[in-house]
Amino acid sequence: MADEKLSKVSMCMQCGMCSGSCPETSITPFNIRKLVRKNLLQREVEESLPWYCTSCGECTLRCPRDVKPSEMIIELRASLVEEGQIPTTIQKALENTYVQKNPWGRPKPKRGAWTAELDFKVPHVKETQSKRLLFTCCIQAYDPRCMVIPLNVARIFNKAGFEFGILGAEESCCGNEIRRMGEAGLFEELQGQNAATFKKYGVKEIIALSPHCMNTLKNEYGDLGIKISHYTEPLAEMIEKGAVAPKTAYAKKVIYHDPCFLGKQNKVFDAPRNILKSIEGLQLLEFTWARENSLCCEGGGGRMFFEAEHPYTRNSERRVLEAVEKGAEVLATSCPFCVMTLEDPATEKGLPVKELSEILIEAL
Ligand code: SF4
Ligand code: SF4
Repeated sequence: MADEKLSKVSMCMQCGMCSGSCPETSITPFNIRKLVRKNLLQREVEESLPWYCTSCGECTLRCPRDVKPSEMIIELRASLVEEGQIPTTIQKALENTYVQKNPWGRPKPKRGAWTAELDFKVPHVKETQSKRLLFTCCIQAYDPRCMVIPLNVARIFNKAGFEFGILGAEESCCGNEIRRMGEAGLFEELQGQNAATFKKYGVKEIIALSPHCMNTLKNEYGDLGIKISHYTEPLAEMIEKGAVAPKTAYAKKVIYHDPCFLGKQNKVFDAPRNILKSIEGLQLLEFTWARENSLCCEGGGGRMFFEAEHPYTRNSERRVLEAVEKGAEVLATSCPFCVMTLEDPATEKGLPVKELSEILIEAL
């Protein structure tokens, strides 16, 4: 391992593409270029620094030498977790996930309780013909603000006659954030549990409601032999084929924020935009930094559970300011983490934040 690390250091040419593109490097004490070097060469790292990284992936996309700085941060965090050098809030999230299989420690048996809000029954995936699974995500299964996303998507799919089922209490956290918080062992446990459950019920397709779940299920679970997508992908296809038809005008200027795990890490840029463009009267605006260059909201990679020690202007605030300057009446996104981070500064400015399904359901 030490040799491997040294060979990565020797590949690094200190070009600064990683730090220059990192959403944290210019605004916090964190500097990815310096940290990669320090970590690899002498391991003199101020304890809190590695926790500033949001796992947005920009540095790894930009690095011309394939050093993969974002993966190095995960490795560094793993060694800190092993030594118990870990912020208490992160530790709590990991402990909660050990016990209840979600970082908030909400009761696992209630993971499917959100379906009680619907006026139709959502079957267990084993009872479906299609064996198509709607993978809910921890935050959307329990948080009242984010629960609206599975409810809306379930209503839209049901109305379109698009069959799906859920796992309810048998679904565990996908582990995307857990791996990025440095808990590789717990990630493997969650991966093993979920993969065994998919196999047990013969799941053929997974539609993930969060880009974070989609990312890890698709890229980090190994070859499951299962088609995996984010819900905006089949939904955009349904709209294109006329199976879902927005009928009510939504005469507003809407600016779309690309979530890192959907956009820059999985290249899903057009499906969410095509959904918005299908709505009559909706005027789609773009941020200066959009698509591959989208500015991270700072909700990923465990940042939901880490309080920065140094005050600074958050990226979510900068995002909201630009949205207001551009004349947006609604700030739209397609990720529950982005909704949570953008909503506070947006509310202060009187700008509503809407997850894409919230806009679509109003327009149907
Ligand atoms: S982008 Fe890659 S090569 Fe350039 S400084 Fe960062 S790690 Fe080194
Ligand atoms: S993953 Fe994003 S936040 Fe983390 S070091 Fe790379 S560019 Fe910075």
